[in-house]
Amino acid sequence: MSKFWSPFVKNLVPYVPGEQPKLAKLVKLNTNENPYGPSPKALAAMQTELNDNLRLYPDPNSDLLKQAVARYYGVQGNQVFLGNGSDEVLAHIFHGLLQHDQPLLFPDISYSFYPVYCGLYGIEFDAVPLDEQFQINPSDYAKPNGGIIFPNPNAPTGCLLALDAVEQILKASPDSVVVVDEAYIDFGGETAITLVDRYPNLLVTQTLSKSRSLAGLRVGLAVGHPDLIEALERIKNSFNSYPLDRLAIVGAAAAFEDREYFEKTCRLVIESRDKVVGQLEAKGFEVLPSAANFIFARHPKHDAAGLAAKLREQGVIVRHFKQERIAQFLRISIGAPEQNQALIDGLGDL
Ligand SMILES: *Cc1c(COP(=O)(O)O)cnc(C)c1O
Repeated sequence: MSKFWSPFVKNLVPYVPGEQPKLAKLVKLNTNENPYGPSPKALAAMQTELNDNLRLYPDPNSDLLKQAVARYYGVQGNQVFLGNGSDEVLAHIFHGLLQHDQPLLFPDISYSFYPVYCGLYGIEFDAVPLDEQFQINPSDYAKPNGGIIFPNPNAPTGCLLALDAVEQILKASPDSVVVVDEAYIDFGGETAITLVDRYPNLLVTQTLSKSRSLAGLRVGLAVGHPDLIEALERIKNSFNSYPLDRLAIVGAAAAFEDREYFEKTCRLVIESRDKVVGQLEAKGFEVLPSAANFIFARHPKHDAAGLAAKLREQGVIVRHFKQERIAQFLRISIGAPEQNQALIDGLGDL
């Protein structure tokens, strides 16, 4: 702490991202990255863009990418907002759309960045407990609120909320913004973007970090009513005119155009997930039903922190959250087949 800090900084509690180890050899199953790598067409587009034009600023509106996203989802360009990763998009959403008198609602077990944004922007929140099966119960959100946000599938549980349940939440709070954070939707869910024309209070966020394997590029997006998007554009244009660089714009646009590669790699992750779930269950783990590229599992006889430490000794890193209710769970990303095998081998005979 220093006397030079703005006063509010001393009370900030920052988000702690999963470890990015400097040792290359580790089997990294801790931050839900995609094992298959970006579309070759995205890489080629970025290579072509790697030229003297980098001396010029990028298009501040990233129109090429906005149009690619709009085409992909069958919406208009003015229904799409883009940012430097969906974390930045979420930050602008909290700042521009969720700062109201009533508390913001989100699940007690959820993306741990949400309370951090609340701290940053001075937003009161009310954490709504998941039910006994770690599921979101839509009727728990039918109470006065200044906004609602939840990941779907939820993180770190991986559990999916059906689209009609999402709709139930939207209908119960027509005067609040409902944000559905679809970071993992492509691994087994149905996007709520199909509902944006019917619900002006719905905002859906997505990222290219997981299903499109571009975590290093930092591209995220939101789709919703043009009035919601307009608020986000105001924030963005008061913060950073150029959140997406030239490489990110062309690379992300090409990734959206390459449907075939995207669908193939998502399918591979889903197949691996089903296999890993079976293998873990055979070892006695309880695994929550996952529609994501990770699974959330606990063993009735082995302490989660101990298992994580044991795996680390074998060179496999998974994520463990020291949080009430989920302290006995491990969150394990689905990797390439040989990485998943290293996980199973590393656990050994339990
Ligand atoms: C990974 C993740 C994000 C952030 O994605 P980026 O686009 O890489 O910033 C947002 N929400 C949830 C629930 C995530 O798991």
